[in-house]
Amino acid sequence: MQNQVIRGKKVAMALTTSACHATTETQEEQQQNNNNNACHMMNLAIFPYCAGEPQPNLNAVINHYVHTLNHFNSRNLGYPTNQNFNYDGLAPLLQFHLNNAGDPFLGCSFSLNSTSFEVSVLDWFANLWDIQKNKYWGYVTTGGTEANLHAILVGREQFPDGILYTSEDSHYSIFKIARINRMQCVKVATLVNGEIDCAHLKHSLLAHNDKPAIINLNIGTTMKGGIDDIDVVIKTLEESGFSRDRFYIHCDAALFGIMLPFLKAAPKIISFKKSIGSVSVSGHKFLGCPIPCGVVITRLEYMNASSRNNVVEIIGSRDATITGSRSGHAPIFLWYAIKKKGSIGLQNEVENCIMNARYLHNRLCDAGFGAMLNEYSNIVVFERPLDDEFSRRWNLACQGNIAHVVVMQHVTIHMLDSFVAEFMMMKKRSFSCFKDYGTFKPLCIADEVGAPNCSCSMHNLLS
Ligand SMILES: *Cc1c(COP(=O)(O)O)cnc(C)c1O
Repeated sequence: MQNQVIRGKKVAMALTTSACHATTETQEEQQQNNNNNACHMMNLAIFPYCAGEPQPNLNAVINHYVHTLNHFNSRNLGYPTNQNFNYDGLAPLLQFHLNNAGDPFLGCSFSLNSTSFEVSVLDWFANLWDIQKNKYWGYVTTGGTEANLHAILVGREQFPDGILYTSEDSHYSIFKIARINRMQCVKVATLVNGEIDCAHLKHSLLAHNDKPAIINLNIGTTMKGGIDDIDVVIKTLEESGFSRDRFYIHCDAALFGIMLPFLKAAPKIISFKKSIGSVSVSGHKFLGCPIPCGVVITRLEYMNASSRNNVVEIIGSRDATITGSRSGHAPIFLWYAIKKKGSIGLQNEVENCIMNARYLHNRLCDAGFGAMLNEYSNIVVFERPLDDEFSRRWNLACQGNIAHVVVMQHVTIHMLDSFVAEFMMMKKRSFSCFKDYGTFKPLCIADEVGAPNCSCSMHNLLS
């Protein structure tokens, strides 16, 4: 029920915004007023006894929606989804339902499957993260969340009484996964850049050293793009008395999993030559894909040791995945994107996103905003705009006192310039709204991003 209300609202928002091109003022009020009207006008509601809708009417609804989406995309800054792609070449595949139920390496008795594409994609990721073809197992998931769920389950099957350690900046999926698996979860503190605080990790490990450790590491936190230091974490485990047979490390690399290997300046970060058990990545984030998907890669030895060996006759495969039916289209989108871009194309895209992120960071700092950008990151963190309507207009992701822009492939310099110009105007306006100008205090974000990155009146003076 709640879900439906939320969905209804989102669609209504899309329609009202585009209908009047209204982007400022009382959008929320408008939304509320137009909620039902817009749906009614657009005939989105499906009535219990509906006659079949004529094709032109359906086309009109979809065309209108596409118009709305284009409008939104021109200011879509806050989320790590690459919107710059063209899969027209795959249109003929929409004539088929493709289904990859089961273990991609065993194929599937349903003949309309794309497991051969899936295995090619998996091989590519295995190579990217330094694990040999005959040493890994993995599959294309519904997204980063399912990839994490699978990976942490593998860790738990290794260590049924293991404790899950993850930093407080971890993606919300990790805490949900701990609840699903009924695992004890220890939240570890982070440094201001978002990376896990190994001093606190050590303290936590020592407090629970009677139980094995299952560690989720962020190779790029969602909010700040902080990268947990795998080598220092492994050293911390050793120093805390955890030998290799008493820990399992999963690397959640939802966004950076594809980016870091192509960034010339970055050292080798994600590698199965290190003592890690699994890596996950979202398929729709950097690579760009019209439907959510993800990839998980683990060591084959874990799969053989687990309970996933039972062959299910009806699908002619091993039931080794979290979901049953799996998208056969998703692996083809990934395959197509990787093939089309090639490693040179990917490298250019990564370098370009990072360069544009640095551009935005500089522009914000020059304009007097508190801002932070981690070294290998395309996530620019800054003080939360005082006007929530402005944040909605630019589709910013906000958390407490901070907000961020993720500079993806569809984000142009022109978009960033307009954004900064509007942000400056909005800040001036907010300042002048305060009757007693003298007592107005800009947001202090020193706790979130460190004093040197804060531009509030106090920290501005210090620097
Ligand atoms: C986005 C993200 C996820 C989840 O990915 P979905 O594909 O949305 O399920 C997991 N971890 C991190 C760090 C993320 O940023």
